[in-house]
Amino acid sequence: MASHRDVAIIGAGLSGLVLALSLHQQNIQSTVYELRPAPLDIGGAITVSPNALQIIDKLGIYESVLSEGYPAEAFHFRSQDDKPFDAYEIGSVEKYGYPGLRVYRRTVIKALLGKCAEKNIKIVFGKKFKQIISESETGVTWEFDDGTVGEADTLVGTDGIHSRVRSYLYPDIEPKFMNVMAIAATIKTSQVEMPEDYSLPVTIMSRTHGAYILAPNFSDGSELVIVKQRRIEEHDREGWKNILADKEGSVDFLRQGVEDFPEVVRQAVSAVTPDSVSIWPFYQVPKMERWTSIGGRVSILGDAAHAIPPSSGQGANQVFEDAYTYALVRGQCDRDSLASVLPKWQRGRQERIDRLIILAAQMNVRRLPESTQSEFCSEAVGTEDFNMEWLFKPDLDKMFQEWLAV
Ligand SMILES: Cc1cc2nc3c(=O)[nH]c(=O)nc-3n(C[C@H](O)[C@H](O)[C@H](O)COP(=O)(O)OP(=O)(O)OC[C@H]3O[C@@H](n4cnc5c(N)ncnc54)[C@H](O)[C@@H]3O)c2cc1C
Repeated sequence: MASHRDVAIIGAGLSGLVLALSLHQQNIQSTVYELRPAPLDIGGAITVSPNALQIIDKLGIYESVLSEGYPAEAFHFRSQDDKPFDAYEIGSVEKYGYPGLRVYRRTVIKALLGKCAEKNIKIVFGKKFKQIISESETGVTWEFDDGTVGEADTLVGTDGIHSRVRSYLYPDIEPKFMNVMAIAATIKTSQVEMPEDYSLPVTIMSRTHGAYILAPNFSDGSELVIVKQRRIEEHDREGWKNILADKEGSVDFLRQGVEDFPEVVRQAVSAVTPDSVSIWPFYQVPKMERWTSIGGRVSILGDAAHAIPPSSGQGANQVFEDAYTYALVRGQCDRDSLASVLPKWQRGRQERIDRLIILAAQMNVRRLPESTQSEFCSEAVGTEDFNMEWLFKPDLDKMFQEWLAV
């Protein structure tokens, strides 16, 4: 029999671990099941913004994450002839209480796992969720790939963009490949003669050859990641395996057209070696009417539930908000009211995500010539600084009360 309020969490990525710790703060017990035999070490560095750092702080791991990351307050843009022409905020200690932080995903996962261990939160590795067997008034049962069966009061799928838990809610939804992937490689920053006052992270744009991103990693900025996007059609599993394995091909792609970019990019790209290459294919899931089953006992959140454009740099950050606010719902609402309360939570979360999607589109369009801006974005696009307070300094506890009051 499932214990009164225990939650099964499927997936020990960022959303699963943040959820487990946030539930613990609400005195709710959970167990996390992860298909991999050990913590996942993928994804390179991410940029964590103040809205997520405030949650990291509430979970008690801010200092350790901060000490391993590269703090930055703006993302800069330069033209092909190396002239700065735009910048947008990614954090500000003065305005939002936190900087933006470039930090390896594995560093955040390690800090979250350490905190889970301290709180005696059980994480079971090597357990692959297969399917929900039944959902009733007393709980949920499900099956793992190894044929064993689990049981809990409720189950949350935090199993990423290719979520299996999602197929219980929407059997026919498949993530759609956006025909773009990011190719990234790291070098030592010392391998580049960085001009003085060259603000990082930076995107160097070109009308003909796309753009290069140069972004520092580690607290001393000693590593530099170089990223470029490549248009590519969808592949089957075997095809993707070949693309991932073809590191030389990725290095060649990074080198294509580099002669038209400033010296700093040319030096960075020429220092790249195949062993440091990583690839991030961009997938999207369509907007879903429900993130929770009719019975209220099975939910999805994080990448499993919504698509955040990679250009917004908010995928991971919104995952933190999802998990933290879901735990608030669980802490303050009776489980019998979940079926009616969780849709309100979803509406509140979706409104924020929709606003973010508009912001990302506006920021992309701002960098196009003025004459073509209206073709790509119906919202007014100004040259003034975007007001980021709503995004970077949310009072999530108050916001959550407002969502529920509607
Ligand atoms: C290279 C790269 C760079 C990125 N940069 C940024 C950035 O700068 N800023 C930003 O905000 N976001 C960024 N993102 C996006 C961000 O990393 C994701 O949005 C975020 O990690 C999603 O977290 P998640 O926990 O929902 O899903 P995931 O991280 O995908 O975790 C899902 C977990 O579930 C497990 N799992 C899957 N299926 C099952 C199953 N059947 N049973 C059990 N376990 C299962 C997986 O093994 C995994 O551990 C980046 C992503 C990549 C790959």
